[in-house]
Amino acid sequence: MRGLMQDFPLLVHQVLDHAARWHGRTAIVSRSIEGPLHRTDYATLNRRARALASAAEQRLGLRLGAVIATMAWNSWRHLEIWYGLMGLGAIVHTLNPRLFTEQLAYIINHAEDQWIFTDLTFVPLLEALQERLPRVKGFIIMTDEAHMPQSTTRRNPICYETLLAAGDPGFAWPSFDENTACGLCYTSGTTGNPKGVLYSHRSNVLHGLMCALGDTMALSARDRVMPVVPMFHANTWSLAFSAPLSGAALVMPGAKLDGPSLYEMLDVGQVSFAAAVPTVWLMLLAHLEKNPQLRLPHLERVVIGGSACPEAIMRAFVEHYDTDVIHAWGMTEMSPIGSLANRPTGIADAEWWPLKLKQGRPPFMVDMKITDDAGNTLPHDGRTFGRLKVKGPAVARSYFRGEGLAAFDAEGWFDTGDVATIDEWGFMQITDRSKDVIKSGGEWISSIELENIALACEGVQEAAAIGLPHPKWSERPLLIIVRKAGAQVSAAEIFAHLDGKIAKWWMPDDVAFVDEIPHTATGKISKLELRERFRDYRFPGTAS
Ligand code: ADP
Repeated sequence: MRGLMQDFPLLVHQVLDHAARWHGRTAIVSRSIEGPLHRTDYATLNRRARALASAAEQRLGLRLGAVIATMAWNSWRHLEIWYGLMGLGAIVHTLNPRLFTEQLAYIINHAEDQWIFTDLTFVPLLEALQERLPRVKGFIIMTDEAHMPQSTTRRNPICYETLLAAGDPGFAWPSFDENTACGLCYTSGTTGNPKGVLYSHRSNVLHGLMCALGDTMALSARDRVMPVVPMFHANTWSLAFSAPLSGAALVMPGAKLDGPSLYEMLDVGQVSFAAAVPTVWLMLLAHLEKNPQLRLPHLERVVIGGSACPEAIMRAFVEHYDTDVIHAWGMTEMSPIGSLANRPTGIADAEWWPLKLKQGRPPFMVDMKITDDAGNTLPHDGRTFGRLKVKGPAVARSYFRGEGLAAFDAEGWFDTGDVATIDEWGFMQITDRSKDVIKSGGEWISSIELENIALACEGVQEAAAIGLPHPKWSERPLLIIVRKAGAQVSAAEIFAHLDGKIAKWWMPDDVAFVDEIPHTATGKISKLELRERFRDYRFPGTAS
């Protein structure tokens, strides 16, 4: 017997409709690309998203299933495009401008993007790229007529505000099935070509609800949320959905993600909740350290993920600024949230910090297990590590155009490529990405753990550990350090700091000091580039 409840398709534009109807006056504050702060609210955003949808349908010929791209920072206009075009049934492909141009050309062509909406910032980049994009019909420049660039070399440059002004703010959303695709995001592709993850309306609504829950991000209409994580990095970690569906205000930081600019937005927007990768927080903390009079009076909690959050960052927030840190793990293929470290009841204070540093427990709708190479499930004892596999209604079941099938098994488990332990509390801890783990004499050394401990050493700004070939042990760790400005910390001091905190055989064979550590397009340490840079390096005492 079937239930007798209404069939309410889960479509993402209903999230914005809800926010507009019941939280219509709630603010969206953005740093505009043109410069000044911009303020709007959910009611206005909804009208403009509808106007854009109607203009895009009539003037750009967009229909259900059309793919369009955005190359844009977090702003109110990016939200209008996101909701307006998803509401039309089109697929919004968010481009990461930090990718190499070859990768950008590859994914734009692979996705068959019809139009590209771009911030002023990226006009030169797209001008240089346009000859390699034969299918793209034109570019919509996300600004008004007064700020339109003068160059005429672009194919069909259209002014965003002029396009939007031609649309109908009362446009009625078409109806379609909740499993319709609405968003496309490519993984960084550190090995091989980037692969596309195709989100559906249903998966994004479910994931947005999941992320708002108390033991995920606990969002509410009392929050002012700043997604520092870009909309092009794995679905804004859901915040472009979970904030409006909770009625939370939004603060959009635009193009400037350096320490002083972020501080200014936290202050102006009275932000209570923010999310970003560790490198971004390091920049904010460095700015605060330089200006000890600055405090974070509004910031109640931050979510840190994308790579392992070092203890030093957590302690700085919690102990110096009274801002709680929630460590999160996930990936583009998971929409992206997979786990968060929120405190369970019944845990003593002394036990909590070691757990807080882990990547945490999966929320409802994410299932998780660790297995050995043969696929046998491993115990939750906090010591045994294995391949981390996941499933759930917001986890990919295939990549776009059927690529990368090896990652998905017959029972629907997706192999994350991460190596992890799970403890008795159910807290998962990432040991490493399987390709970054350092394999020394048949045993594994966690590069993440070495980095986290090294970062707590006085004078260290950033740390990366990589495995390099060794004649006897197959690989041994090299620790690469960026010193804090003006600091003189030596290799001997770093060895002394590590001593006693790690097993003897984990001790790096050498420490190298560099001015800068390379980062990937999503702000993570680029181990690939570091291994390349240190290819000819030999450990002391080993033959070349
Ligand atoms: P990209 O590889 O394009 O940066 P993702 O953001 O999807 O794309 O990266 C996902 C990967 O990032 C995970 O598989 C994991 O290796 C790493 N990661 C994410 N969050 C954490 C975390 N909190 N701790 C350790 N690793 C993390």
